[in-house]
Amino acid sequence: MPHNDHSIAAVTSESTTYQANAKQHLRHDWMRHEVAALFDLPFNDLLFQAQTVHRQHFNPNHVQVSTLCSIKTGACPEDCKYCPQSARYDTGLEKEKLMKVNAVIEEAKAAKDSGATRFCMGAAWRSPKNKDLPYVIEMVKGVKALGLETCMTLGMLDADQSEALADAGLDYYNHNLDTSPEYYGDIITTRTYDDRLNTLQNVRDAGMKVCSGGIVGMGEDVQDRVGLLIQLANMSVHPESVPINMLVRVEGTPLDDVDDLDPFDFIRTIAVARILMPASHVRLSAGREEMNEQMQAMAFFAGANSIFYGEKLLTTPNPEANKDMQLFKRLGIEPEPYSATQKRREGVEIFEPKPSVKEAASSLFYDAAV
Ligand code: SF4
Repeated sequence: MPHNDHSIAAVTSESTTYQANAKQHLRHDWMRHEVAALFDLPFNDLLFQAQTVHRQHFNPNHVQVSTLCSIKTGACPEDCKYCPQSARYDTGLEKEKLMKVNAVIEEAKAAKDSGATRFCMGAAWRSPKNKDLPYVIEMVKGVKALGLETCMTLGMLDADQSEALADAGLDYYNHNLDTSPEYYGDIITTRTYDDRLNTLQNVRDAGMKVCSGGIVGMGEDVQDRVGLLIQLANMSVHPESVPINMLVRVEGTPLDDVDDLDPFDFIRTIAVARILMPASHVRLSAGREEMNEQMQAMAFFAGANSIFYGEKLLTTPNPEANKDMQLFKRLGIEPEPYSATQKRREGVEIFEPKPSVKEAASSLFYDAAV
């Protein structure tokens, strides 16, 4: 059997042993020219490399499923130019106060019943106020008690707030970098890139897992996509979740007339994220509603292995949940079980390809050297 990087057979057999040592293979010293070279690869070469890396760390037919609940909608004082929740733009979005704790827990139960393993709660705040924190903490405890992983996105956090949320049992905190440091000032002026990095450090220091990614299609160029992914990949610990969003243009926001994004540029960004952060879940996030099934399938092939599932993605439409399950079925994808996530974290999961996959691979490749 040939044993080089270009053999799927080699990939599937290596993957049985690679998992246990995965951490040793993670890099945190990516150079701009290396990442730019990945973006420059012919599309098929890039996808093959991403899928190869993906198989070394994950079951390629598992996709982690999260549900997102907007616990407080609209009237945000920040000026993120893509966001319909900013109070500065007239988008017709109806504002809602902080949801009641019981109502959030009911939504979490429904999410669990439809197959979600993680429940993400988002509030349109610059940062949580002290009067809000006790309610938010009750939400974390209640959702956690259902046996779901918990995630929140509440804006900037200081060290004390991070500690309080971690003590309540919050597993993940989402805070996106959005774009490169160079392009950032064109998109947000009310908080700095360093503010964002500080929040992520507070989250890490408090012992929570980090969910952080960005948005593609905001008029940035490929160098900005390089810059964003380098920021994420060169953190001393990679974010465990990396959402890659495709801009959803919302009328009334300053970015509502930005040029169309080439869908292949979006897929390239997913693939490069997968290669740079091989053990992280790369999430196909906002913008999925505007993607056809073929594009979603291509994103999974490029290494996306997490989605938001449910009726809504905060304030923009998300494909209906059962449509997702039908697509999974057609692609032979299964929702990643909670236990798989836990085992991987403990470094004990070994992905053993199904015999049919091994057989298919070995019947497709032969050792030309023999
Ligand atoms: S992205 Fe978040 S911080 Fe920015 S305006 Fe929207 S809700 Fe506020």
